[in-house]
Amino acid sequence: MTETRQDATARAGILRDRPYADVLIIGGGINGIATFRDLALQGVDVALVERHDYVSGASAASSHMIHGGIRYLENGEFRLVHEAVTERNALLKTAPHFVRPLQTTIPIYSTFSGVLSAPLRFLRHGSGRSRERGAALIKIGLVIYDSFSRGGGLLGTGTVPRHAFHGRKRSLQQLPSLNPRVKYTATYWDASLREPERLAGDVLRDGLRDGRAPGDDRSADRARAANYTAAVRADDGRIVLQDAAGEFAFTASVIVNASGPWTDLTNLALGDPTQYMGGTKGSHIVLDHPELLAATGGRELFFEHSDGRIVLIYPLNGRVLVGTTDLEHDMREPAVCTEEEIDYFFDLVGHVFPQIPVDRAQIVYRFAGVRPLPGHGDAAPGFVSRDYRIEAQQLPGSVSATVLSLVGGKWTTFRASAAHLTDRVLEQLARPRTRSTKGVPIGGGAGYPTSERARRQWLAPYADSIGLERASRLLERYGTTAASVIAAIVADPDDAPLRTLPDYSTAELRHLAATEQVVHLDDLLMRRTSIAFVGAATAEVAADVAQVVAKVLGWDASAIAAETERALAKVHAAGPRAASAIA
Ligand SMILES: Cc1cc2nc3c(=O)[nH]c(=O)nc-3n(C[C@H](O)[C@H](O)[C@H](O)COP(=O)(O)OP(=O)(O)OC[C@H]3O[C@@H](n4cnc5c(N)ncnc54)[C@H](O)[C@@H]3O)c2cc1C
Repeated sequence: MTETRQDATARAGILRDRPYADVLIIGGGINGIATFRDLALQGVDVALVERHDYVSGASAASSHMIHGGIRYLENGEFRLVHEAVTERNALLKTAPHFVRPLQTTIPIYSTFSGVLSAPLRFLRHGSGRSRERGAALIKIGLVIYDSFSRGGGLLGTGTVPRHAFHGRKRSLQQLPSLNPRVKYTATYWDASLREPERLAGDVLRDGLRDGRAPGDDRSADRARAANYTAAVRADDGRIVLQDAAGEFAFTASVIVNASGPWTDLTNLALGDPTQYMGGTKGSHIVLDHPELLAATGGRELFFEHSDGRIVLIYPLNGRVLVGTTDLEHDMREPAVCTEEEIDYFFDLVGHVFPQIPVDRAQIVYRFAGVRPLPGHGDAAPGFVSRDYRIEAQQLPGSVSATVLSLVGGKWTTFRASAAHLTDRVLEQLARPRTRSTKGVPIGGGAGYPTSERARRQWLAPYADSIGLERASRLLERYGTTAASVIAAIVADPDDAPLRTLPDYSTAELRHLAATEQVVHLDDLLMRRTSIAFVGAATAEVAADVAQVVAKVLGWDASAIAAETERALAKVHAAGPRAASAIA
């Protein structure tokens, strides 16, 4: 099912037209969206509001890893690691269009350091900064990790390849540009999340489909979602929502506060201040750097920098992602990637690949966000628990409405944390769970061809209409929902390659604008496509895309100019790109 433009117009009033539901979810990050899908699957009447665009908070700032979190073993978080590995293995099957196996290599410069402090951390007595992790400690961690991964079928073989340790000579044969001081490398498998924003969009659209009522009245749907709609306060047991048209009150029996790092601020706005959260900021840069890309050998390099922080160099979408930091942050301030953080990233690249120069001209995109971590007292940010929990309160001014706040929750574990939240909601509503989300394919992951033969079969019907090569590119970009993109392209007589970015076509962009709740140009450039991520959101491309989708979105000349200006400001909000990249 795809939404039409007519649906989108109708959607603008869907919450106002019926201002009540059993459940109101505040926050359209991956955790709110996944809870929305789970509740829709149970037939619960659910509404979701997101004050900006979907997946524009912490969920847009991740390191793009679907991982068990090997380093959380060091903090003694065995439950979380076990759950995360299980979810990772499941996502490889339910979302194979975006979640793929990722070979990960840890370069190691010492043999024993870190071992003595590790058992203390397992017992949760350690709170200080790490000492460099040596080979022995990493080996212990990987043996435990392998045991959690057993039977996961990471490479479709039914078994996860075990980790491998190599000495200096073999390591340098495999990765010749590595720092020659390296003593060992440890290599294991995790998974990459190529397009987090698109995967979350798929989860959202699955929820909308599952809650859809027959007929044309969208306000009758049992699953309704609105972006650019904020929960601003509670009033007499109702939640006051605000969208572009103004404020209105909404009633629900259960409110799910899934506002990620803003959870305390949302509870404060609702009139019941909490101090659950202690998020830390993390930034990333994206480099257009073919030499560095080649040096990674297609693997993620995951390692400990000199300050004990775990960092990564990661080939993604033809670029190199470098991250991340872990800094205290005040949620009332925007998260930006600072010049000091960039110096830190360059330093860490130099630590691993000392012969490969990097400079600011190669940065094509930067982004920063705040991890929704629980408050952590004086524990160092890198050692704060990554596990999640659910807290319940009464909605101020209401005798019966409950607020359930999610504290924490990673991308990797979104299905599991949503299942826990859904169970708590069902308990409040005294309703049974009717279906599990375990193993349920997500969006364009349904029927996704994973073998060469299946891929050829899937593409064959499109040979005459748009050609195999283009169909293959769209399958890669959208999973099996490429079928509806292709149908829209074929039906549009004005389709043409985008003048400034021929990799995209005009009918494709119009289709996304019409069917994926696009409100602003930056939604399209930053979250419905990876145009911004790969550094292609130049002023010319932004203006071109705005022209192409203007009719679908009802923009006149002044709206086109305003949207272009806004989008460029958003694309560069986490820090401007290097001057040469902008030009
Ligand atoms: C630097 C960094 C690296 C990370 N790397 C990884 C990784 O590699 N793998 C992994 O598994 N996880 C990773 N994570 C963690 C993961 O990204 C987050 O834990 C997860 O995305 C949180 O999702 P969420 O839905 O809870 O929060 P968010 O995505 O922040 O969503 C909350 C939403 O609530 C909205 N909101 C707030 N207040 C209101 C209101 N009053 N009304 C309406 N809406 C409101 C916000 O706009 C926001 O969109 C990383 C996080 C960061 C910051």
